[in-house]
Amino acid sequence: MSEEGDRRPRFRRYVGSENSLYSVETSSASSESDIDDNPESDGSGEFDKSLPATHRYLGKLDNVGGYTILDEGQVIPGMLAIHTNTLVFPGFTLPLVLRDFETDQLLEDIKKGYMFVLISTGKVKTKLYEYGVIMEVYETSARRGVINLKAKGRQRCEILPDTMTRNPWARMQKLTVKILGEPNIKSPISNSQLQTLRARRTNFGSDYKSLMRNYKYRRYHLSQYPYASWVYDHNELSYLVELITDNLAKFYVKEHLPQDPTSLSYWFVQNYQLTHEERLDILKCPSVLERLRLELRYLNMKRSLICGRCSIEIANQSDVFAMSREGVQSNYCNPGGQVYETITVSEAQNYTTVGEPSKQFTWFPGYAWTIIQCKCCTGHLGWLFTSNNHHPERFFGLAHSCLDIKKIKLMNDSDSNAVEGDESKQMQVS
Ligand SMILES: [Zn+2]
Repeated sequence: MSEEGDRRPRFRRYVGSENSLYSVETSSASSESDIDDNPESDGSGEFDKSLPATHRYLGKLDNVGGYTILDEGQVIPGMLAIHTNTLVFPGFTLPLVLRDFETDQLLEDIKKGYMFVLISTGKVKTKLYEYGVIMEVYETSARRGVINLKAKGRQRCEILPDTMTRNPWARMQKLTVKILGEPNIKSPISNSQLQTLRARRTNFGSDYKSLMRNYKYRRYHLSQYPYASWVYDHNELSYLVELITDNLAKFYVKEHLPQDPTSLSYWFVQNYQLTHEERLDILKCPSVLERLRLELRYLNMKRSLICGRCSIEIANQSDVFAMSREGVQSNYCNPGGQVYETITVSEAQNYTTVGEPSKQFTWFPGYAWTIIQCKCCTGHLGWLFTSNNHHPERFFGLAHSCLDIKKIKLMNDSDSNAVEGDESKQMQVS
């Protein structure tokens, strides 16, 4: 796995410390972020879920502001590219810790433009994936040779082929990228309705409710077309949003899910348990319509989290819950610069804890972390978080890069039926 290559040898002499959120050698760099004594609770003991997304363990950073949207089709030669073992989609946050020895000139690039492209390996691990995400740095600080920063995903981009032969494992390099746009998706029948009728009863709607309000007339209208009406429904964004949020309601509070199609399509990637390959396919989708339709297909499969090394079951999808405002899966960075995409689950199995609980550099203010590893193969799995003051008292942060996703296919694998949420359907292992 990629973290093998990224782990710094100097961490190795500490037992399990490459898996720590904190290590002895970096104490000076992170002492500013001493957050252990902060009152993170409002007195009720309920954990403030907006805290993890602020990444306070990185200390106080300077706001460098800005919200830059680049032109579609714009080609940027020599853009700084950073490889981590995670993917971040537009709208989501990536925390990073960079060190002098790996930055040098490249640091100047970040300071100049405050933008870089996040890249990852493709389905074939020896190759760089041809799509990436433009990230904008919005907070940064440089202290004693350590640069802490937070960046937000802005736009998808394509990495132009002349640079694709570069080393996929290099943490930093310069690449030529082309900015991809977000095409405006219209209803497939938006141009076919008479203007006079459109004002009275629109056959398509920006949201599901208004689509359904005139559904009878929509069916009348669609009878002039060659295909069944559901074919057209499945090309309505509002309809897809409804299907997806309905399905996700098994795991999340439906009212909390984004209703905007584009936001939902990216929210899904950050919050549903997908394999690396599935995420790459979503990143490749040219529009929100394709993304949502693909995601609907992925919802057909039940998933569980298994050890990445020995495949023993670690957690169920039903145990996944949100500890952060950004959702159940968020990226966090340890002082060594290793980015971990962490899935929070209320219960886990087949693990053992390693070492004593520690609160240093904790990602969830007020919680102490303990490293957990696989009971079978002793592979690193993530951390157990515990607190005496907060609710919940304990939960697990599982590292996405240490796990595999086991998919269990529902019997009826068609877009329309299986996703309509029939829990009683027979299951089979794919
Ligand atoms: Zn294992």
